[in-house]
Amino acid sequence: MQCEQQVVEEKMIVAMEQDASSERVSQVEYLLAQWGYNPHIIVGEERTVIAAVGTGPDIESRLAILREVPGVATATRVSSPYKLCSREAHKSSTSFTVKRQGGTVTIGDGQFVVIAGPCSVESGDQIFSTAKSIAESGAAILRGGAFKPRSSPYAFQGLGEDGLKLLSEAGDEFGLPVITEVMRPAQVEIVCQYADILQIGARNMQNFDLLKEVGQARKPVFLKRGPNASITEFLMSAEYVLAGGNQQVILCERGLDYTKDKGEHTRNILDIQAVPVLQDKTHLPVFLDPAHSSGKRHLVSRIAKACVAIGANGIMVEVHPDPAKALSDGAQSLTPAQFADMMADLGPYLELWEEEHSKTVAASAA
Ligand code: PEP
Ligand code: MN
Repeated sequence: MQCEQQVVEEKMIVAMEQDASSERVSQVEYLLAQWGYNPHIIVGEERTVIAAVGTGPDIESRLAILREVPGVATATRVSSPYKLCSREAHKSSTSFTVKRQGGTVTIGDGQFVVIAGPCSVESGDQIFSTAKSIAESGAAILRGGAFKPRSSPYAFQGLGEDGLKLLSEAGDEFGLPVITEVMRPAQVEIVCQYADILQIGARNMQNFDLLKEVGQARKPVFLKRGPNASITEFLMSAEYVLAGGNQQVILCERGLDYTKDKGEHTRNILDIQAVPVLQDKTHLPVFLDPAHSSGKRHLVSRIAKACVAIGANGIMVEVHPDPAKALSDGAQSLTPAQFADMMADLGPYLELWEEEHSKTVAASAA
């Protein structure tokens, strides 16, 4: 009996030396293509990296050849199903900055970032007063949905472009970069005109066309984990964005669906274990969302402390000047005063976070 030979797909990452010329990069690209590998060039700030997928049993000998090619710093086999977002491919943690009117925020390094604002942009008064109060309390980024994914078609769907304009004006006024959700590929262009960060909602985590589209955008992407998604599925979705050429991805765990008490006490279960798991597996910044996970305002501040303590890079919470009148997610929205209290409560935890963070940075540099 004849056995069918299995074709094994292999992945490798070739990191070029920092001063490697484009000719050297082309040489590696040519070699990989000759071997039937599909090279994908990533030009980073420090160095160029080539990720390649191909088949063949003799990957080790090919890696050995690559390591001898002038200009190549390292050539490694990648075992995870996602390659561009894996730590194997990129040892140091990814960080980048977002800016608006003098407000500069570094994501993924040195700063625990608090994103706050209403679930939906509802009016000028609402978004301006929220922006003012959260800026005073120390939030770094303003959120507000203009295109809303709602379970009911009769629920408020967002203000659309008018909402984007208001959000952007409020961000300008208070020097806060802004984040908002994009639901469809066709909306990416307009959202990019107003927002500093594009949010992909939990329901769209596996909207592959949308992921491909934001992969083409030159704005950071805040990718929320689907309530039923595994860590691997989450990372595969991030991989779509990176494969499109957009290296600026933030992962956000926002609560999983499975719960024995079926949402009687909280809306979802926040998987904070995902933070260290993801930090081991990927170089991308990891956020948590204690508002959408708990669904209850009185729980948010206490869960937020755990988010800082576990070493996340930041959190997203919802704040509304009058939560009882909110058009979406009022039950989990903090009042501006509650947000100020939360920020004060987080103070000692943030100091510890900074200490821990500098230890990690020192250890990885050693
Ligand atoms: C939101 O951020 O308002 C939102 C809809 O979040 P999620 O996609 O996590 O439900
Ligand atoms: Mn919401």
